[in-house]
Amino acid sequence: MERFFAKIRDHQVCLSPMDEHHLVNVMRAKAGTMIEIVDAGDLYLAEVVSLSPLRIEIRQELSRPTELNAHLILGFSLLKGGHDELVLMKGTELGAFAFVPFLSERSIIRLDSKEREKRLQRFQKIVEGAANQSKRMSIPKITPILDYPSVLSYPADHRYLAYENLSGDVFNLPNELSNIKAGESALFLIGPEGGFSPKEAALAEDAGFSFVSLGKRILRAETASIFVASSFAFAEENK
Ligand code: SAM
Repeated sequence: MERFFAKIRDHQVCLSPMDEHHLVNVMRAKAGTMIEIVDAGDLYLAEVVSLSPLRIEIRQELSRPTELNAHLILGFSLLKGGHDELVLMKGTELGAFAFVPFLSERSIIRLDSKEREKRLQRFQKIVEGAANQSKRMSIPKITPILDYPSVLSYPADHRYLAYENLSGDVFNLPNELSNIKAGESALFLIGPEGGFSPKEAALAEDAGFSFVSLGKRILRAETASIFVASSFAFAEENK
């Protein structure tokens, strides 16, 4: 059943123009078509009552708690070749609460303000599509593209830097994940293709970040983000 993020007013569903077009012209909905509506984190069953004018009415409230109890915030460096889009798509499916895209010393990609805006619009579309497909109850937030110092001041209850230069035998991720409680937020920073410089790692440590190892192998940046999101979801779903 198709799902739409919409606003409900007096039992009436108000879709965005894009979603109206999708429902009427792509899905070719008819009177009687049932759809799911998410409004402010609540899930409803709704019925298309008429098409012109379009009228959609709520039939019942459903409950499907698909959100994780703790909030994963994925801080990721922009990547070349669109690999950062994989971070957004898979991170959303795996339950990420928010994304903090950034550029750091060794980030290969460089964008002017217009390109940044365009990339953020593309990111937004990706997380909305993935939230719909994975039946999320909320759409992850995406911050503006930050520089490294601004990322280090991004607030969270737990803040980690995935540091590839830790010796491989200090696999502390499971232990760190077990410390994160329901309702808390955890920011994980994943570096770019060239990794974090020792200076950036030192700045993060001074800012109160803890280092985590993701195991003995060096993962590609997008793999590292997906590994963190998978591990976080696995730990959260099993608490
Ligand atoms: N400096 C790396 C190298 O030697 O090839 C390249 C960086 S890696 C492609 C991109 C990012 O993924 C790193 O900055 C780090 O955040 C994360 N990462 C990859 N493997 C990791 C590991 N085994 N432990 C911790 N972080 C890792």
